[in-house]
Amino acid sequence: MMINSIYTHKEIFLRELISNSSDAIDKIYYKALTDDTITFNKEDYYVKVSTNQQERTLTLTDTGIGMNKEELEQNLGTIAKSGSLAFKNNNEIKDGHDIIGQFGVGFYSAFMVADQVTVTTKPFASDEAYVWVSEGVDGYTIETGHKDEVGTEIVLKIKENTEDESYDEYLDQHRLQAIIKKYSDFIRYPIKMDITEQHPKEQPENADENTEPEFIDVTEEKTINSMVPIWRKNKSELTTEDYEQFYNEKHYGFDKPIKHVHISVDGAIRYNSILFIPQQIPFNYYSKEFEKGLELYSNGVLIMDKCADLLPDYFSFVKGMVDSEDLSLNISRELLQHDRQLTLIAKNIKKKIKSELQSLLKEDREKYNEFFESFGRQLKYGVYSEYGMHKEDLQDLIMFYSSTEKKMVTLAEYVERMPEEQKFIYYATGESNERIEKMPQTELVADKDYEILYFTEDIDEFSIQMLMNYKEKQFKSVSSSDLGLESEEEKKEAETETDENKELFAEIKNILSGKVSDVKVSKRLKTHPVCLAAAGDVSIEMEKVLQQMPDNQNVKADKILEINTQHEVFESLKDSFAGDKEKFALYANLLYSQALLIEGLPLQDPVAFSNDVCKVMV
Ligand code: ADP
Ligand code: MG
Repeated sequence: MMINSIYTHKEIFLRELISNSSDAIDKIYYKALTDDTITFNKEDYYVKVSTNQQERTLTLTDTGIGMNKEELEQNLGTIAKSGSLAFKNNNEIKDGHDIIGQFGVGFYSAFMVADQVTVTTKPFASDEAYVWVSEGVDGYTIETGHKDEVGTEIVLKIKENTEDESYDEYLDQHRLQAIIKKYSDFIRYPIKMDITEQHPKEQPENADENTEPEFIDVTEEKTINSMVPIWRKNKSELTTEDYEQFYNEKHYGFDKPIKHVHISVDGAIRYNSILFIPQQIPFNYYSKEFEKGLELYSNGVLIMDKCADLLPDYFSFVKGMVDSEDLSLNISRELLQHDRQLTLIAKNIKKKIKSELQSLLKEDREKYNEFFESFGRQLKYGVYSEYGMHKEDLQDLIMFYSSTEKKMVTLAEYVERMPEEQKFIYYATGESNERIEKMPQTELVADKDYEILYFTEDIDEFSIQMLMNYKEKQFKSVSSSDLGLESEEEKKEAETETDENKELFAEIKNILSGKVSDVKVSKRLKTHPVCLAAAGDVSIEMEKVLQQMPDNQNVKADKILEINTQHEVFESLKDSFAGDKEKFALYANLLYSQALLIEGLPLQDPVAFSNDVCKVMV
């Protein structure tokens, strides 16, 4: 059954149920705090865990907000139909990790250890109670029932032991106590259990010192968890594991976070915050469904699940929470946007994330690479978005693959290595590192031993255009018409060569009119016969990206055909120009098509191209 595959440790079902209870208490607590007609006694709110060995039942009772019939149906009844399940079936296992792990299937984890689950619940401000019973994903029933107190009681009928699995442990008080301590210690409401311990029987006054002491069972209700939320604890008391447990309990992700940050600020504004940088991209990260934001608490009470205003888009991958005493509980979503405290907190958090990423980059490059692999694209997008408003914040965090270092490098590292005479930061755009390596346009720059950054993502060139320069060095595409490499002498040479073949070049330009804006002698090509270069701001790669946009304005690069006059092919071109004009036109078209193919641009007429190749062969 699918539920069994979600978690490796069955014991976490208890964490899931307790966290639901805690959420439900949060909700009623919040109601009480914002509604004067309700009084809230903290002592009245708790979760109780109890067992019955004979019946093989484990019961969780909470004094939370409860559920009405519709809520029962919606919240617990729809797993079989839920989007997550459909998604799971369509995308069995992607990238080697189980996608379902990323969904909140919390409640259903109960079926990992139980054959039957009975939920009796009485919603706040209602006289009716409801009983929901289910034996798994196949269905459920709801009936009207009876319950005195508002809240929810969940009874699990624990499975019988099998050959390879013992379920008895979920009826054992010590084991349950240990599980609660491990996963739910930070829950802010008491988790109570009746704990039976053996106590020595009180001896009569006149008892002989040598008589064996007698023991009796004493059952006492005890609170198992420490109840101090992790963010209120002292950093020095906490281990990385504690933070990771919290990350899992909160369902921030099912991976192991790359880094956690614990912030406690006690100044003009006061707040505690725990932030995580996840390792894996949430499956829907680059889609519209993804919602960024941090959990927002006002003095320990959850007031918002995903407060988007706390995170800039370019750090939308960050998970975590903020708790501040200075925020009003009654604040509405709209007002929150203009809340001065919140704006300040958001600003601090942004700074903190930036500096944490910077130190990760400096101190643990391997981990930073891992992070960048997942979320680098978002940072580059951040450079580009909002007209480059955030480029200062982000330019030192982005990386590109380097032709000489054969790994990801930062712009600072590139500039550091630049020889004195090198004027520009060179980059090449293409689908993959392998494709770029074979690009004819890289020949001259590589020949000079200059480092080239490989731009393999759509966003790369756009963000670099927004950046314009880095440490006063301009960026230059190896495909741009002027590479800024030729000496005055070389420029002259190219000009005279163009002059010598002036008519030939004019004729090619004529044949390719409307396709290229100019035809030139290439100085960058060493071994290849032709390539395309772009003049102006729109590069060929950008043209490709823009053409794919739904509302594309048919923006095209201003293309220049460059011909390598040192290549044998140029001799044939010259011969045909002198003797056979038809052949010359054929060659000109072929060279142009070749240049398009090398660039990965579509041929306008592949059939004509194929016919042209045949003409050369026969
Ligand atoms: P999640 O907690 O991620 O929403 P769950 O499957 O754990 O997903 O729970 C589904 C929903 O059922 C919860 O969001 C909540 O509305 C409701 N629910 C579960 N347990 C309780 C409870 N003890 N009291 C009130 N509502 C509950
Ligand atoms: Mg849950």
